[in-house]
Amino acid sequence: MTRTLTALFVSLLVLWPVPASAALPSDANATSRILSPLVVAEHLAEEPVYVHPDRYVSTESSLVLSEDRARDLNDRVTEELPGVYLAVTPWPNAPRSMGTAVVNRSEAEGTFLLVGDGLTVISVRSEGDKVPGPSSDTVRMVLAVVNQRPDLARADLGDRLDIALDLLGDEEAAAREYERMSSDGDPGGRALSLVVVLLAALPLVGLAVWALRRRALRPVRVVPLSEAVVDTVDSAAREELRRELARDLPSYGRRVAGFKGPRSRAAKALAAYEAAARVLDTAGDVSDLVGVRVLLDHCEAALTAGPSPRHCFFDPRHQGVKAPASLRVPASPRATTVPACPDCRRDVHAHVPPRAVLDSSYGLPSPYYAVPAEQSVWAATGYGTLAPDLVERVLSGGARG
Ligand SMILES: [Zn+2]
Repeated sequence: MTRTLTALFVSLLVLWPVPASAALPSDANATSRILSPLVVAEHLAEEPVYVHPDRYVSTESSLVLSEDRARDLNDRVTEELPGVYLAVTPWPNAPRSMGTAVVNRSEAEGTFLLVGDGLTVISVRSEGDKVPGPSSDTVRMVLAVVNQRPDLARADLGDRLDIALDLLGDEEAAAREYERMSSDGDPGGRALSLVVVLLAALPLVGLAVWALRRRALRPVRVVPLSEAVVDTVDSAAREELRRELARDLPSYGRRVAGFKGPRSRAAKALAAYEAAARVLDTAGDVSDLVGVRVLLDHCEAALTAGPSPRHCFFDPRHQGVKAPASLRVPASPRATTVPACPDCRRDVHAHVPPRAVLDSSYGLPSPYYAVPAEQSVWAATGYGTLAPDLVERVLSGGARG
């Protein structure tokens, strides 16, 4: 089991898409670069424009986006461009992997424009046939103009973004500007048709896809989680969960005590209830509290003769139909399979780390399955998804070995 878990953890490290350069807070500046895609996605669910505070105080004038300007952009996008989202981040080189991570985390659908620590604007689109907002052709032309038009080389970020928004809202103007730029760049002055330009770009697109695939196969270093992620596991949420469980537990106790069914089921329900009560008594971390909920689910199944609970490996609280997700073990033909909810399967498929239960018992929060199996029964059993004897293990050894 420990070996399986280790292999799993290693394979998940490979799935982690954060660029290594954003990873290590080796100096004070670097810490500001640690920004979770989740934070951006959650902001964009509320407002269509996210601007990292670093931009308000950037030392390079062309990169400054004042708070007023950021607010104007937000108002414009809100009123004029439904289905468009914009994030100005400290991530180096406007990384597409981070854009993909934001889109995967986001409840919104549309075109997501992303700016990294420079001036380049990239876009990532939600998957699907009916994505709201401008067409992908329009977006491609607009970004080509904004990133490549020679007279914009000296424009600051705010002006670039304003032009991008102008053109995104006017498909014809975008096509016109794009064609003008293409013909200006041609020494013979021939006006190349858009089709020719797009056809000419195809081999480059192929090359870019190939390069991205190669990049995706390269293992990347794991990074400490951002403070923002830590915040999402703040004590308020933990105490709320604890109160909820403390409120529910006695009703399970009464049902177990009054149970009139077969003796084997009564014994199972009692064991799961006792295990839950024991963990709740000593639970110090949210990962333990999630374990209590899992144990109560086992108790429920025994009381009602229902099927064994089918939880998502990454977080047992996840809803939706669980199905096997295949995780690759690096440098090996082997793959490991875990049950996962639809969201987590999509994340695994997109090489994005799923939103797993975090364990903060041993320092910085990390995915619970990264804790050594001998220190956590949750890691050792995947909250029971990898081993059927979770209840027995808790009763014999406790949650923390
Ligand atoms: Zn899940």
